Amino acid sequence: MLRRWVGPLFLASLFPGLVAITAPAGAADLPRLVDLGAGECIPCKQMAPILEELRAEFANRFLVEFVDVWENPAAADRYRIRVIPTQIFLGADGKELFRHEGFFSKEDILAKWRELGVEVGGAEIEPFSRWEPAQPDTRAKEAICYLCDGDNDPRSQVEVQTDKGSVDLCSPHHFFVLLSCLTTDVEGTEARARVTDWSTGQPVAMQSAVYLYGFDEETGRPTIKAFGSRDAALAERMVAGGSLLGYDTLKRKELSQRCGFCDRAVYPEDVAQVKVGGVYSWGCCSHCALGVAARTGMEVEVLERDRLTGDPIRVRILQGSIVSVEPSTAVAWYGQRTRPDGTRVSAGCFHQGFFTSPKNLRLWVEAHPLETGEMITIHKALTDKMALSPEQIRKACKIGECAPK
Ligand SMILES: [Zn+2]
Ligand SMILES: [Zn+2]
Repeated sequence: MLRRWVGPLFLASLFPGLVAITAPAGAADLPRLVDLGAGECIPCKQMAPILEELRAEFANRFLVEFVDVWENPAAADRYRIRVIPTQIFLGADGKELFRHEGFFSKEDILAKWRELGVEVGGAEIEPFSRWEPAQPDTRAKEAICYLCDGDNDPRSQVEVQTDKGSVDLCSPHHFFVLLSCLTTDVEGTEARARVTDWSTGQPVAMQSAVYLYGFDEETGRPTIKAFGSRDAALAERMVAGGSLLGYDTLKRKELSQRCGFCDRAVYPEDVAQVKVGGVYSWGCCSHCALGVAARTGMEVEVLERDRLTGDPIRVRILQGSIVSVEPSTAVAWYGQRTRPDGTRVSAGCFHQGFFTSPKNLRLWVEAHPLETGEMITIHKALTDKMALSPEQIRKACKIGECAPK
C-alpha cells in the first residue's frame, strides 16, 4: 500500500525490529522524533508543516529532526527505513521506541508520545457526555421509526410484519434504507411490507402501491406518497404535481445512491460528501464518511455540515491519518446508548454528527433531549474506524443489527 506513495525510494527491509541509535553529543536530554523523507514525495510534503508546529509547540518536551534521505542516503541506511516518510520515536537515551511508516498526523504523533509516557498535554477537548436522556420518551412504540427514532408520519409510514411483531418506519425512504442493510430475507421483507395510503390512511401492500414522486422545493429531497389505487394517485398529482412510479422503479431510485462505508441507501441532501481517490461518494453519517478511509485505504476528503448550523466542515485524510480539519475547532458527537447491563453501544448512524465547535455540539444536544453519547475529537472518530478489522468493515451495518425484530 505504502509503495504507492514512496515514488522512487523503496529500501530493502533486511533488518526489521529495534535499532539502537545514539543521540548526537550535546543534544538535550529529551526524546526525539526523527522524520525521514524527501522534498518531492506527497506525504512528506504534508508532514513538513506538522513537524514545524511540533518543533515550535513542544520544544521543551521532545526534539524534532527532519532528514532528507535523497540528499543524505547514508541516513536511510543508518535508520534502515523501507519507505518515506518514516517517523522514528527515540527515547532520551537514544533507543528506538516506535516507528511509523507513511503520513502520520500531528494528533497521531502526540497520541503516540502520550502512550510512550512523554508528557505532551491531554487530548485537546474538555470531556462532554450525556448518558441518560434529558427527558423520558413518552411516544408509543408504533409512533417511533425503527431506524431513525424519529416520529412516524401517519400518512406515509411503513409497517413490516415479523414473527416478533410489527416494525414501523417513518417513511418509504427509511424502509428502503432498512432494505439496503439486510443480508437475509430481503424479498420476504418486501413482500410483508405495507405502506399507508396517503388518501385513505389505510395500509396497502408496498409492492403493489402506486407512488407519487416529487421533490421538496427547498431541500431537493424526494417526496413520496403511496396510493392503493392509480386514480387516487392521479387525483393527488393534479393538486401537488410529480410523477407516478411503480414499486420497482421507486426501489431502483432509492437504492441507487449508497454510503461509501456501510452501503446504506442515502439521499445526498442528508449526508456527508466524500471524495475518495478523487471520486465522489457519500457517507451516510459523519463517522461512516471517515470509515471510507478505512474501507478503501485511499486518500479521502470529507465535506460534512455542522448539524446545528449547517456550516461546512472539511476533513482531509491521508494513509489513515488526518491531514487537516477545517475549522480546526470541529468536534464529533458519538451517539451511544447504554444497554441494561451497563455496556454502551453505538446509537446508529442517525445519531452521529460533526460540529464546528464544542459549543455548537452542546447546543444541539440540549435541543435534542433524547440523544445520548459523548463528544470526541475527529481524530478519535477516525482512529476508531481505522482500528476496525477487514472483517468488521466488510460487515459494517450488515450484521443483522438492523434486521426487523
Ligand atoms: Zn425514520
Ligand atoms: Zn454508512
